[in-house]
Amino acid sequence: MSGHISVIGIGPGAPEQITPQAHTALAGAEALYGYGPYLNRIPARPGQTRHASDNREEADRATAALRHAAQGARVALVSGGDPGVFAMAAAVCAEIEAGPAAWREVELEVVPGITAMLALAARVGAPLGHDFCAISLSDNLKSWDVIERRLDAAANAGFVIALYNPASRARPWQLGQAFARLRAHLPDSIPVIFGRAVGRENEHVRITTIAEADPAGADMATLVIVGSAQTRVVKRPRRVPLVYTPRIGEQPRIDQEAPA
Ligand code: SAH
Repeated sequence: MSGHISVIGIGPGAPEQITPQAHTALAGAEALYGYGPYLNRIPARPGQTRHASDNREEADRATAALRHAAQGARVALVSGGDPGVFAMAAAVCAEIEAGPAAWREVELEVVPGITAMLALAARVGAPLGHDFCAISLSDNLKSWDVIERRLDAAANAGFVIALYNPASRARPWQLGQAFARLRAHLPDSIPVIFGRAVGRENEHVRITTIAEADPAGADMATLVIVGSAQTRVVKRPRRVPLVYTPRIGEQPRIDQEAPA
């Protein structure tokens, strides 16, 4: 009765960006758990039960899915993008670590998916072509002070920065503050890409600069990529510009001073 749990990434939204491995794992499950809108993207299968939950109930969702799997069931827990990127795979690992001994006997499979920063990067060229990092601007699970230190460090080290969770109704000011922080380190002309609902019907991609980036252009369905001093924008007639970060380039000047 050890059971099986698959934590499955279903990509950013486009059906063709769900991997064959994810389709196989979904088809083999008796019960699907996940945030309602993600479950709605998966066609119904006879005999498969669905357990939709609210976006914020990660730990409860992981616990419910593990409890069900520990009873001997084949359970799938669905995540947008990749389940290991600011998503359910870490929540499941944390519950296995903290939970009853029987949960360690459950077979765990993590099925990777295309994460939002890769889907957005592919839309505009290759902004993540050289060293980059990903930072979540959500201060629900870590302090804003830690986020600011990471933004300073990333900008000073010359990383391209993917900003996940840039804004939501409950967190309206974080992105504006992050841009202000980054402007202290980066030249005005650094490219910034806003990608909303990438891979979905209402996809919207906009390319601007750090000087002009308007935080009001982001919501919880938006990913923001902030370029480095090496990132280039190539204008093309009748086509959206290309944004890329060359694989060879000057090393950034590392400035040790924190901004005032
Ligand atoms: N596991 C997900 C990320 C979860 S955090 C992944 O790998 O993509 C949620 C954040 O991801 C959102 O606030 C947004 O910043 C980003 N995101 C997820 N899907 C997106 C999409 N289709 N378009 C743009 N951003 C997206």
